[in-house]
Amino acid sequence: MDFTVAFSLLQDGLTNGAAYGLIALALVLAFSVTRVILVQAGEFVSFGALTIYTLQNGQTPMTVWFMLAACCVAGVMELIRLRCAHAPAARYLRPVVWWVAVPAVIAAVTVAAPKAHAPMALQVLLTLAIVVPIGSAMYRVVYQPIANASILVLLIVSVAAHFVLDGLALAAFGPDGARTAAFTDTRFEVAGQSVALQNLLVLVASAALMGMLYWFSQKTAHGRALRATASNRRGALLMGISADMAGLTSFGLTALICAIAGILIAPFVTIYYNSGFLVSLKAFVGATVGAMLSYPLAALGALSIGVFESFAAFWSSGYKDALVFALMVPILLGCSMFSSHVIDEEEEKAGGGMRTVPRFIKALRDAAWRVPGKLWLIALLVFIAVLPFGLSHYYVTLTSYIYLYAIVCLGVILLTGVAGQVSFGQAAFVGVGAYASAVLTKAWLISPWLALPLVLLATALCSWILGAVTLRMRSHYLPIATIAWAVSIFYVFSNTDSIGASTGMTDLPPIPLPTFGFVHSYELRIYYLVALVLFILALASRNLLDSRTGRAIRSLKSKALMAESMGVNVPLLKIKVFVFAAVLAGISGWLYAHMQRFINPSSFGLEMGVQYIFTAVIGGIGQLSGAIVGSAVVGAISDWLQSILQMNVLQKFGNLQQVIFGVLIILLLQRTQHGIAYLFTAFIRPRKVPESGNALLTMHAGPAPEAGKPLLRVNRATKRFGGLTAVSDVSFDVAPGEIMAMIGPNGAGKSTMFNLISGALKPTSGEIIFAGKRINDLTSHSIADTGLSRTFQHVKLLGELSAIDNAALGAYRHGRCGMLATMLRLDRREERQAMQAAATALERTGLAEVANQPAGSLPLGKQRILEVARALVARPQMLLLDEPAAGLRASEKDELAELLKRLQSEGMTILLVEHDMAFVMNLADRVIVQNFGCTLTIGTPAQVQSHPDVIAAYLGGVAS
Ligand code: ADP
Ligand code: MG
Repeated sequence: MDFTVAFSLLQDGLTNGAAYGLIALALVLAFSVTRVILVQAGEFVSFGALTIYTLQNGQTPMTVWFMLAACCVAGVMELIRLRCAHAPAARYLRPVVWWVAVPAVIAAVTVAAPKAHAPMALQVLLTLAIVVPIGSAMYRVVYQPIANASILVLLIVSVAAHFVLDGLALAAFGPDGARTAAFTDTRFEVAGQSVALQNLLVLVASAALMGMLYWFSQKTAHGRALRATASNRRGALLMGISADMAGLTSFGLTALICAIAGILIAPFVTIYYNSGFLVSLKAFVGATVGAMLSYPLAALGALSIGVFESFAAFWSSGYKDALVFALMVPILLGCSMFSSHVIDEEEEKAGGGMRTVPRFIKALRDAAWRVPGKLWLIALLVFIAVLPFGLSHYYVTLTSYIYLYAIVCLGVILLTGVAGQVSFGQAAFVGVGAYASAVLTKAWLISPWLALPLVLLATALCSWILGAVTLRMRSHYLPIATIAWAVSIFYVFSNTDSIGASTGMTDLPPIPLPTFGFVHSYELRIYYLVALVLFILALASRNLLDSRTGRAIRSLKSKALMAESMGVNVPLLKIKVFVFAAVLAGISGWLYAHMQRFINPSSFGLEMGVQYIFTAVIGGIGQLSGAIVGSAVVGAISDWLQSILQMNVLQKFGNLQQVIFGVLIILLLQRTQHGIAYLFTAFIRPRKVPESGNALLTMHAGPAPEAGKPLLRVNRATKRFGGLTAVSDVSFDVAPGEIMAMIGPNGAGKSTMFNLISGALKPTSGEIIFAGKRINDLTSHSIADTGLSRTFQHVKLLGELSAIDNAALGAYRHGRCGMLATMLRLDRREERQAMQAAATALERTGLAEVANQPAGSLPLGKQRILEVARALVARPQMLLLDEPAAGLRASEKDELAELLKRLQSEGMTILLVEHDMAFVMNLADRVIVQNFGCTLTIGTPAQVQSHPDVIAAYLGGVAS
């Protein structure tokens, strides 16, 4: 490549990069104020570009009517809110003016104004006046009602909103691309190279805008106020800033910036109704470089993406996008690792608390329970078997498709709903399965049955590699990374000629299936095959969830730290679940390829990946039945929509189906985050609590500690968080069979000390020796395996699981059955033992009556005791209890003290943190007093109580 080519590539790259940079800033702005990852920012870009294009052609753009409609909906919502709040009549004026009158004026002006011959400035002004209100109305209608939801829920809603706008954009602008008139044709020479003034203008305009935005957010009171809302919504409210106002402003600004970016790039690239999405995704990579928080880094990142893309296009134009999106994955990984200092996870905020079951469901349930469960299962199987005889060919095939979707959704629910790892990329694995089988059967001519194991191997391998890289990411990085590789894989499919590129592959062989003398049509045979596969996989998934591994998987979502301390290898388990979900998708792809007998990339793109998530959310992402319910509902709705679309004038109206699903998802998530199938969970029968065994719980499996040696030795441990030294040079021993208490005021570093011992944190210096073994380099779960078991200051239970299931999680480290054995139910003996141990622990801790109640519904005191029970089920050598008596009533405290004494008499060693002096002084053999990270003194309760430093620093008047 010579210099001239490189220069012109650089020029194009920088120009595109500048636009990406603007969008990246807009994304950062929206995220930092509202925590929304604005996937639909791209639509503001294409709205901007296409609106000005339509104006230049002398027409009234459809976006005007969207704007008016969106604002009216926002206005109505606002009025309803005021009414519900019994606001005085005068307050109604503002929303009417802002949401109805002003937009109406803008619409009227647009219709009336001379458009094609208007000066450019007026065209730009009109465009912005149309797009900006769409942004604000978007916030009011879609996000404000769920402003407190988790980042992930907001992300799913954002993807849904993108779907809606994308569908509307197709309706408004049609499938044709547009390129607007150039601002100027002037070129000039710089150092012998030709430079287009237009490119320079874009760069300058972008730089100016970026500068202004930076200045606004950092230096002006209003900008700082916006940022304050991001970090602390309530705090900002106290300062007189309304979070709603901040959201509206930031979305309006975001739409403004994106529309400007669209107007700026429209003369360079042909913009289609859906171009914005890919553009904004690239901008997003830039934004992540600044961890979604820093403006300069975001702009720089986006600029580099533009340049990289420009050069990638030169070297390999077909795979350009595949390369750019593949590049996103390592960038995201780096950002995620860089940004994750915190050990506490974002707690679930979804839906809130326990849910109530409607009365009619209860009545139905009581009726249903009169019939034994096995009979229901047989009835279901018979129904599935005879169903095709009542349906036409068309509906038999539709049902088969629904089953195929359900197979993928089982994986989505396991991975995203249960394990909390959001993946928009499952469709890509369906594609890997389908293409692998297509190549094997067509090019290598082997039977589909022989191809199946190879297909599974290919998907498993592919997903293992992707999983190993992406599953390390936290929070919102992971779902975005899944979008990135999903898009990347899609481009590989559609640009590789040997697999038919975008036309795909045809004439795939059917799967040889027996006719049994009466199942003559292939459709029917494949129907039974798909139904059978779905049934087997659903059963396997259920078995998996209802086991030791299942309990561990459930804790991945928001209690990974707790799971680690119970001996779960969290990173490995995440990958295993990811691979299992991908294999389910691969099986679905294999069936799909040979059922339809042709494939093309469009079935495996991001849209489908998103649709799988939507299907699972509609069905209910928290329970497996959601896969089947969701697929059936979505299948039925799409079919119904298609039939009305075919005969109606609506046919012209773009992708209505997509719009309707998007709206449905948004409405659903605004109301409830549990989906339809949640109603069915009421029908699940409670399990019988097993007889508690009489095994001694305190018996530890490992070697007994050597006599005379300490069980735990902490040697000069120090932990620093940045400039703060939370634990400073602390040394102490705990002898076997001893109860040692750690006391000290809040912030003295007690919990940090516990985290060091249990491996949740690594000490900055010093060492920790347990049972003669240095443990401070071990991972949390291997430390748990050496016989240390802990409870948490902030209770970490799986709120939806019963108390006994929570306790059984403690037995994790004693189980040996793997995922496959579990799916085949070969783990029953082990499971019985775990349940028995859990029942015993509940009985000993006085929780036997609440064994079947959801842990989240127990009072805090009982939850704390349940944590002790769970720790006991692990049969540890030593217990670490972080404030076990906090929130307990006096009588409960006495019972707890008695329990701990009894455990001690059975040989248990205990280290506990406690605030209640009386409790500690009567219980502990020795006490260690911490203050500001340092040890004040160690001694018997009597010695400590009379120590002058302790009296001065901590006990004060309490010591008597
Ligand atoms: P205690 O349990 O004695 O009340 P902690 O161990 O929780 O105290 O905290 C000790 C100090 O370390 C506090 O000042 C706290 O703010 C700080 N700290 C604890 N965990 C972290 C962390 N993950 N990152 C930064 N600072 C932390
Ligand atoms: Mg603490």
